[in-house]
Amino acid sequence: MRIVFATKNEGKVKEITEMLTFMNIELISLNHFESLPEIVEDGKTYLENALKKAKIISEFTGEIVLADDSGLQVDILGGEPGIYSARYAGEGATDEENNAKLLAKLKDVPRELRTASFFCALVLYHQDGDYNSFEAEWQGRIIDERRGTNGFGYDPIFLSPQLNKTAAELPPEIKNTISHRGQAFAKLKSHLGKKIK
Ligand code: IMP
Repeated sequence: MRIVFATKNEGKVKEITEMLTFMNIELISLNHFESLPEIVEDGKTYLENALKKAKIISEFTGEIVLADDSGLQVDILGGEPGIYSARYAGEGATDEENNAKLLAKLKDVPRELRTASFFCALVLYHQDGDYNSFEAEWQGRIIDERRGTNGFGYDPIFLSPQLNKTAAELPPEIKNTISHRGQAFAKLKSHLGKKIK
């Protein structure tokens, strides 16, 4: 089975290919296509954004497409940064700028009120317009210092209370099993496993 993954990030493709090992799936990134249509991520939810990406790319390539969208929600901030996670401190903001903005907003918030969760929506879109979606969440807390060097985004300030480690302190193989993305991909994998058998 051949699936186009709607990302240009080869790191993500590598991570996902590893998660889908032994499944006889050829995963191709958008770097293999030219003149791709522009996609404006203007949905109100992660699922809407992932579905929009998947639909546009499937109609353009004529292939089965997998698309994802993810972000961080901080409870005391009413779910901010949410779908704006990548550009919280402005268009083109770095991870460090986004983290600094979030920590500044949480400056006077006590530890017990700093609960947060990562969320991931995945869409597997078929050429006939039919699609399957998979969603998962990872609960944690935002700490007020940066810890660890693995991962990306908000990982250094997102603490898993169960493990007492930030996402950036976890080895990738551990993060991949418990994270929002890891859990959503496990659901996808189980769905594909049933279909491929
Ligand atoms: P996207 O789904 O690749 O567009 O990611 C959206 C944004 O959410 C990223 O740029 C990060 O800021 C944040 N994010 C999503 N997943 C993670 C994660 O596993 N760790 C840290 N930040 C994440």
